[in-house]
Amino acid sequence: MQIIRKERPIEIQEETEVLVVGGGPAGIGACVSAARQGKKTLLLEKRGFLGGNITACYVENCNYFLAGTPFHSQGLYAEIEEKCLEKYGNCNVRSNKANSFDSECLKVFLDEFIQENGVKILLHSFVNEVVMEGNKIAAVIIQTKQGPLAVKADVVIDATGDGDVAYGAGVPFELGRERDGLCQPGTVSVRLAGADVDKLTEDGDGLGKITKAFRKDYRAGKVDLPCKRQDIPFGRLTKAGQISYVNYPCAYGVNPTDVEDLTRGEIECRRYIMDIFRYLKEHYEELKDIEITSMAPEIGFRDSRRIQGMHRLTIEEMEQQTHYPDTIAVFPRFYDMLSPDAIMTGDETVKGRGYKGYIYEPVKDDRQFEIPYRSLVPVKVENLLVAGRCISADHVAESGVRAVSLCMMTGQAAGIGAGLAIENKVAVSDVPIDRMQEILRSSGIDIPSQKLACHHSKLL
Ligand SMILES: Cc1cc2nc3c(=O)[nH]c(=O)nc-3n(C[C@H](O)[C@H](O)[C@H](O)COP(=O)(O)OP(=O)(O)OC[C@H]3O[C@@H](n4cnc5c(N)ncnc54)[C@H](O)[C@@H]3O)c2cc1C
Repeated sequence: MQIIRKERPIEIQEETEVLVVGGGPAGIGACVSAARQGKKTLLLEKRGFLGGNITACYVENCNYFLAGTPFHSQGLYAEIEEKCLEKYGNCNVRSNKANSFDSECLKVFLDEFIQENGVKILLHSFVNEVVMEGNKIAAVIIQTKQGPLAVKADVVIDATGDGDVAYGAGVPFELGRERDGLCQPGTVSVRLAGADVDKLTEDGDGLGKITKAFRKDYRAGKVDLPCKRQDIPFGRLTKAGQISYVNYPCAYGVNPTDVEDLTRGEIECRRYIMDIFRYLKEHYEELKDIEITSMAPEIGFRDSRRIQGMHRLTIEEMEQQTHYPDTIAVFPRFYDMLSPDAIMTGDETVKGRGYKGYIYEPVKDDRQFEIPYRSLVPVKVENLLVAGRCISADHVAESGVRAVSLCMMTGQAAGIGAGLAIENKVAVSDVPIDRMQEILRSSGIDIPSQKLACHHSKLL
């Protein structure tokens, strides 16, 4: 069944040079770097605050996996981490969460930081329609309380995590695991108060011990809870007894773009929150007085649509540490794929590949992988770039790409790409790569000097 809408004119709300859709890590990287190139930049965000999964899903300990490795935060992420921690601190007493954000403070920090950098922000601006003129986006349509409004831009950067703009522009995409289309589970994180801080800190990291014990008990069949999640990672513990992030509830088989699935996922996760809340209270003396202070405002996803770009990043390339002439980011080898089908057996390694069960390969040596600019350039559309977890990659590769700080690095590159396309009056696929890499390096991104010179403007 279908209904035909009557055509009607839509007011143009804004005209800008660079339009960034989505105010998560990738969108933040994109809009700040575009503005720092002197481009008139607008950021649209569907929620009432910025930060994406960091603030909306309490994913505060973003770069935890770099601790104790030869790697460090880079570029804009390093700048935000340093400035936000200096300004607001993080009220944390766990030694391994020293670099975590206090995500409520991060919301305020980002409001100020983004505007100080010359970016205009519009919140409550959900983009779900794109107007095309040939191979170019002529306008995106935002849904507002006043009805639809149009925004025109020279270049659009899709940082929605779901590739919503690219989808609207008709760019082909993949979703989920290649063999069955299943994505990693969705999670509604929760915050707890009333933890006994003295007990949890008297002999090392008490919360870390609970994480380990829970996993052992789950695998021994001693945890009789309906959620198939076998892990219970915790975020910060504050002096006031708050546990800022409990990443436990997992709804499996949810398509992040399907409204029926999303509804089921939200409701299912909230039930799991109540289960784990009671379980923790009953099983751990240190948590007997806990109460729920907040459930994350929306179910969060680790993967969703992955757009078809000029280059599809593959796990084989990542494993072979392939160099590209148009590398825009280099990141330590790291994969974290929660089992899409809730099967908890398997060897946990990329080599196993069947990913029966999940893949978790933390950084253990100095291996790195690269991302080429072409993975940010969608096929078919001349003035659109994609950044963050929805870039062109295979499903396992995305489980490494999805790292928050790397998503921000792809955003930084997209912002520069947009600026160069405007300056050179070319399609986003034709920007001068050597210049882009030069700007990235001067913005604190470690890109090795190229073995293969790429002076031509047209990408391969
Ligand atoms: C529970 C959980 C735990 C995780 N743990 C870690 C971790 O420990 N470390 C780590 O590095 N990564 C972790 N991740 C992954 C990480 O959070 C994401 O990969 C990362 O946030 C992706 O950044 P992004 O900017 O691409 O997308 P997102 O963070 O999803 O941001 C997208 C933004 O776009 C907005 N948006 C979406 N659609 C529209 C639209 N149509 N119009 C306007 N705005 C829109 C959203 O509201 C959001 O603000 C975790 C993810 C989850 C869900």
